Amino acid sequence: MADLAAYAARPASSRGRRIPEPPPEGRSEYQRDRDRIVHSAAFRRLEYKTQVFVNHEGDLFRTRLTHSIEVAQIARSVARNLGLNEDLVEAVSLAHDLGHTPFGHAGQDALNECMREHGGFEHNLQSLRVVDYLESRYGDFPGLNLTFETREGILKHCSARNAEQLGDVGERFVLRRQPGLEAQLANIADELAYNNHDVDDGLRSGLIEIEELSEVSIFRRHLEQVRVRHPGLQDRRQVHETIRRMINTLVTDLTRQSLANIEAAAPVSIDEVRLAPALIGFSPSMREEQHELKRFLRTRLYQHYRVARMAAKSRRIVRDLFDAFVSDLRLLPPEFQGRADADGVRAIADYIAGMTDRYAILEHRRLFAVEQI
Ligand code: MG
Repeated sequence: MADLAAYAARPASSRGRRIPEPPPEGRSEYQRDRDRIVHSAAFRRLEYKTQVFVNHEGDLFRTRLTHSIEVAQIARSVARNLGLNEDLVEAVSLAHDLGHTPFGHAGQDALNECMREHGGFEHNLQSLRVVDYLESRYGDFPGLNLTFETREGILKHCSARNAEQLGDVGERFVLRRQPGLEAQLANIADELAYNNHDVDDGLRSGLIEIEELSEVSIFRRHLEQVRVRHPGLQDRRQVHETIRRMINTLVTDLTRQSLANIEAAAPVSIDEVRLAPALIGFSPSMREEQHELKRFLRTRLYQHYRVARMAAKSRRIVRDLFDAFVSDLRLLPPEFQGRADADGVRAIADYIAGMTDRYAILEHRRLFAVEQI
């Protein structure tokens, strides 16, 4: 790892783990966090969870797993340029979607709706619940017992009501403070990654076309560069050349603007970072271009009728599962019946949120299809 800047997170100034442990040998505290995340069951499940396209729609679309790896790759590159802690940024990036439900946002909206009377459902909060509580692997503690900084990064957003019940890691939402720069970076790398890979997946699916994407200034600008440099390039290669250039432009802009913000605020420790305004960000013009791209993706891809049909089906599956379990807890597998004794209806949300797309479809069939035994 390159030299750490004064404002970077470092194990020596860490707020530590909930249950104290001796320091690791041969790796840093944040590497240990990353290793625990990679070995978790929730991490393996990301392979079969939807990003935009449901897993069975095609083998080449992003899943939550490949998305998380792309986020980590982008975030680490920028972290190195800024002198931030790459191990921490990697841990946060790989863990940020662990609490995601099956079927992407449709699944999460449906579960939130189901849980309305029981405290709601937020996927960021669920990611924290996975690493603090639901993963059950170690003899000495529940969850993964991660450092405060990794947990702080995982909890990107949180309602004030829930934050108040979370203790130290929820404090910043009550006090309206920032997390460390590694957490800020992982959050923006998430957005940078999905804006670009959703363009790629959208084109691959045929739901959007290159020509309509050319309405979007950042795409058009880079496509023109590619057409000048490589006239007559075949479609897929042209798309990839355009996207890699967009990512490069965004990463360069993010690095430059963030360095300028950091220089202006001049924080000398992670605690000073937490008191400063958000320092990791794009330049104003790049932010505007990103908004334009997001608007395009929302209306042309995420709200495309074929995506909407799958989303409606997904919501129905989640709602059916939830209603079946609420009406009769004995339908839950024994492990979750046990959890329901302690956690009530929340155990049902935990069970459903943990499902992969295909497991949820299978479980739905088991519960509702007459011909299935
Ligand atoms: Mg994400």
